[in-house]
Amino acid sequence: MDFIAFADLCHQGLLGDQRVLIRADLNVPQDEQGHITEDTRIQASLPCIEMALKAGAAVMVTSHLGRPQEGQWTAKDSLAPVAARLGELLGRTIPLIQNWVSGVQVKTGEVVMLENCRFNVGEKANDPELSQHMAALCDVFVHDAFGTAHRAEASTYGVAQYAPVACAGPLLSAEIVAISKALANPKRPLVAIVGGSKVSTKLSILLSLANKVDHLIVGGGIANTFMLASGLPIGKSLCEPDQVEQAQAVMALMKSRGAQVPIPSDVVVAKSFGDESSACTKAAQDVQSDDLILDVGPQTSAALALEVSKAGTLVWNGPIGVFEFEAFSKGTESLARAITQSQAFSLAGGGDTLAAIAKYHLSQDIDYISTGGGAFLEVLEGKTLPAFEVLKARAQKS
Ligand code: AMP
Repeated sequence: MDFIAFADLCHQGLLGDQRVLIRADLNVPQDEQGHITEDTRIQASLPCIEMALKAGAAVMVTSHLGRPQEGQWTAKDSLAPVAARLGELLGRTIPLIQNWVSGVQVKTGEVVMLENCRFNVGEKANDPELSQHMAALCDVFVHDAFGTAHRAEASTYGVAQYAPVACAGPLLSAEIVAISKALANPKRPLVAIVGGSKVSTKLSILLSLANKVDHLIVGGGIANTFMLASGLPIGKSLCEPDQVEQAQAVMALMKSRGAQVPIPSDVVVAKSFGDESSACTKAAQDVQSDDLILDVGPQTSAALALEVSKAGTLVWNGPIGVFEFEAFSKGTESLARAITQSQAFSLAGGGDTLAAIAKYHLSQDIDYISTGGGAFLEVLEGKTLPAFEVLKARAQKS
């Protein structure tokens, strides 16, 4: 490994009485009253915190929550409910510290939570002075927030530059190891499935994947743009006509490598977008001018399942239909099931993808589920994430 793993420091017994600052991802969803509706991220942060406690450290944990304006505290974006939930899970009281940048009192064996790091002025801009203040709080900085690893901010990047020791927490380490396994030397054929609503936001990833993967499957609004690029009617479906040339470039690239981007042969359409809209399955060439394509049809699903069944490695980001609506969820469900039934090493990431996997109760059957959305895509794209880069640089110096 190219970086220092926090687990190794703990096992070496180097943490007794040390001040450990953990940058976690505790950005959990809340309802209007501020109640946490889903606490997976808090649960996922426990191993790192428990590891630090067991090693005899004084522990500080911080995270972002929501998108507050820097310099303005708001109750809505306060980590107070998160500190309370973490306390329940750890069976101890977790004090929430406000205005913590210039100093924190924390004793060995104690855990404190440092209020939303995005309240600090200079967080987003990765301000060196703020970063140095954060670094001065600790002996060891632990980055354990993969979902933020593609951003260089003060609490994710700057602090890692200046802290006496900067290392990767167990969550971050696991992401790096799993994604490297999938992409560095993947078992072939390597099949990537990229769905979702927009080509433009995922275009650079499609072009870079087209250079790497053996098969590229597109779905959702992205597939609509590819259908248009193939001369098929798409009615009033979600599509980006200005991206047609780019879609054609992706198809040409795959063709030059002896592969095809499969274009749906049948689709599920509706006359309006909604949960109650009545669904109609038809051949792709029969789509009417007032149709909205909201899912792939059974023939296309079967073809995609066949492609998936032959894969050695599968990487999945983005649903292939409007899976939130029952009538248009079959394509995504069928694909998710095909992925879990294949012998391939499967890797999935991104908020909607995880929601789809959870909806069909398939979480146990995917080999690796990445917590990151943007970070996951950037790793797939072959980019080096800032968080990895700085931890690697620090490991080389030590
Ligand atoms: P993204 O945020 O780009 O990953 O897109 C995810 C969203 O794409 C989900 O909420 C899906 O409902 C939506 N989606 C998938 N297929 C379609 C489609 N054919 N038309 C409109 N939206 C779609």
